[in-house]
Amino acid sequence: MASEIAEKYAAIREELPENVDIIAAAKTRSADEIAESIGAGVKMVGENYVQEAERVISELGARAEQVEWHMIGHLQRNKINKALPVFDVIQSVDSPRLARGINKRVDEPIRVFVEVNIAGEESKYGVPPEELSSFFEEISECEMLRVGGLMGMEPYFDDPEKARPYLQRLKGLFDEMQTGDWRNVELKTLSMGMSNSYRVAVEEGSNMVRIGTAIYGPRP
Ligand SMILES: *Cc1c(COP(=O)(O)O)cnc(C)c1O
Repeated sequence: MASEIAEKYAAIREELPENVDIIAAAKTRSADEIAESIGAGVKMVGENYVQEAERVISELGARAEQVEWHMIGHLQRNKINKALPVFDVIQSVDSPRLARGINKRVDEPIRVFVEVNIAGEESKYGVPPEELSSFFEEISECEMLRVGGLMGMEPYFDDPEKARPYLQRLKGLFDEMQTGDWRNVELKTLSMGMSNSYRVAVEEGSNMVRIGTAIYGPRP
């Protein structure tokens, strides 16, 4: 019998268009739970903390190599060196200093997304929308970064319809930035939508959703 995690992931995968990638947002989940989701077809796992990612990856052994690892939490600059060997993509580049720090420390080009603070919330990380163009200008100097997307976390609402304006706003910024001409930027991925909002996010143009609770169940 398929596990609950497997069933939930399969149902979401079935529901979403093929061009939409699913990040299994795995913070607080055990290696066993993550292994189950990989067994069910998960191709991309998101983690919020470097140490937690290191631990589950070492516990997963060879199975960790079957998936891409995405950093989706705030990355402190003093953790860059530890994060680099762990993650394939850093979705949470949120300041010029962090961008330059990563650029200086990598020895191969690395895929990154720019995190946008969609609603300008103090409690959230990300580049404020009005600073996005100048931010792209700055990171176009970081030649080891391959900027492939935007990531954003809308405010939480019980009713996901209320999230729609924020999701629309991020899509608008994505379209706007796509018209820019920076040599290390090729915006393809719009990472928005979580367990509660992914349907609305996809309707509004997301092609990467980050889903935790709806795959793994409520967090402990
Ligand atoms: C936890 C988390 C998610 C997933 O949240 P759920 O509501 O559990 O789906 C998505 N993105 C980020 C950045 C997260 O930290």
